[in-house]
Amino acid sequence: MHPPKLLVSTRNQHKLDEIHAIMSGTAVELLSLASFPSAPEVVEDADTLEGNASKKSDQLFAFTGLDTVADDTGLEVMALNGAPGVYSARFAGENSTDQQNRDLLLTKLHGIQDRQAQFRTIIAFTTGSGTFLFEGSCKGRIALAETGTYGFGYDSIFIPDGFNQSFAEMDASQKNQVSHRSRALKRFSSYLSSIIS
Ligand code: IMP
Repeated sequence: MHPPKLLVSTRNQHKLDEIHAIMSGTAVELLSLASFPSAPEVVEDADTLEGNASKKSDQLFAFTGLDTVADDTGLEVMALNGAPGVYSARFAGENSTDQQNRDLLLTKLHGIQDRQAQFRTIIAFTTGSGTFLFEGSCKGRIALAETGTYGFGYDSIFIPDGFNQSFAEMDASQKNQVSHRSRALKRFSSYLSSIIS
């Protein structure tokens, strides 16, 4: 029997690689948006991670008819009352780059002692029976400066609890052992295994 197909609704190659690595033990065939060049671009304008993740999985399920999974992630900084949160991708402006977002965060935290932060990921899974949400978080702190070259986004300024290295100094398998995304995906994978076995 062929494993069930699951579309991953992201154009972010880093996220795709992480999702593939973390779900490699789950009996599904992962498809990416590369197989659907005319798929609509989903506008991420909800004011929660849950809203954006659901939008991405719902719209791609409606377009392809395939069971679809989507991720929305935010970095929540305590000293900034949870910002940038759901606005992490456009923290420094509508079309800001990862570098501009990191620079702005380091500038805003300049001279601030409390560097506590967490990444939070919501995984949304849409099937014919509805949309289901799975959450994962990773607590840590914002570094004083960038270190490391692996990863993407805010990885080079985030140091997870229990480590002295940023995510960008860890290889993929180390990051995947503790990351927000892996925790959310592990919950999702157990759910998936329970419904397809
Ligand atoms: P989104 O989930 O693609 O909307 O990501 C929101 C923002 O968080 C973007 O700026 C991403 O680059 C960043 N981001 C998402 N996941 C991670 C991660 O695992 N590490 C570092 N930055 C991330």
